[in-house]
Amino acid sequence: MKYKRILLKLSGEALMGEQSYGIDINRVMQYANDIKEIHSQGLEIAIVIGGGNIHRGLSAEQAGMDRVQADYMGMLATVINSMALQDALEKVGLKTRLLTAIKMEQICEPFIRRRAVRHLEKGRIVIFGAGTGNPYFTTDTAASLRAIEINADAVLKGTRVDGIYTADPEKDPSAQRYDKITFHEVYEKGLNVMDMTAFTLCQENNLPIIVFDMNKPGNLKKLANGDHIGTVVS
Ligand code: UDP
Repeated sequence: MKYKRILLKLSGEALMGEQSYGIDINRVMQYANDIKEIHSQGLEIAIVIGGGNIHRGLSAEQAGMDRVQADYMGMLATVINSMALQDALEKVGLKTRLLTAIKMEQICEPFIRRRAVRHLEKGRIVIFGAGTGNPYFTTDTAASLRAIEINADAVLKGTRVDGIYTADPEKDPSAQRYDKITFHEVYEKGLNVMDMTAFTLCQENNLPIIVFDMNKPGNLKKLANGDHIGTVVS
C-alpha cells in the first residue's frame, strides 16, 4: 500500500449520480463498496463530503439570501450527505463514526481531533461533516484542514473527471491531462484544482493532492496500490 492514512474528498454533486438534485443511493453504494475494498487492505480512511447536490451558500446568496445563513444551510447539507454515506458504509459491513464541526449530539459526535485519530487507529471509517463549521469556507478547505490535523498522507479528491487538464476537457477536446504537477505550476497556470484557501493549506503543509475519477469502480483501489491514475499535485 502506498499510503497508511488518507483523506477522501467527495463533492456533493458526485452523489447525485444521473439525477439533477439529491442523493442517488446506487451511487453511494458504489462508493461504499470501493471504500470497503481499500479498507480491507489496511488503509485508514477519513472522508469529507460536500453539499452542492442539496444547497450551496454562494448560489443562495445570489438568489437573495443572507450569505451566512445560506452557508450554515450548506453545512447542514453536508451532514445529510455524510449520513447517507455512513448508512451505505455500514450496509457493506464497515464500522463508521460521523464527527461534525457543528454539534448534533443525537446523530453524531462533535469533532475532536484526538478522538478522530483514535477511531482511525481502530479501523473505523471517519466521516467529517458540517465542513469547517464556519461560513465563507468550502468543504475542500475542510478536507485540507482535517487531513493536516489527522496527519493524512494525501488528500484524494474524487471527481467525475480523471485528473487536472490544461483546459476544461468537457469544453475543449484538445485539453491534455497532467500526470503530475507542482503546486507552483498550478498557481502559475491558473488551474482550478481546489479553492485557494484549500490549495494553499495543502501547499504550505506539503500535503499532496490527487485528483481522480471516483465514478469508475476500482479506481480508488488502484490509487491506494500506488498505480498511476489521475493527477498528483505535490
Ligand atoms: N460550507 C461552509 N463552510 C464550510 C464548508 C461548507 O459554509 O466549511 C457551505 C457553503 O455554503 C457551501 C456548502 O456548505 O456552498 C456546500 O459545500 P461545498 O460547496 O464545498 O460542496 P461541494 O461543492 O463539494 O459539493
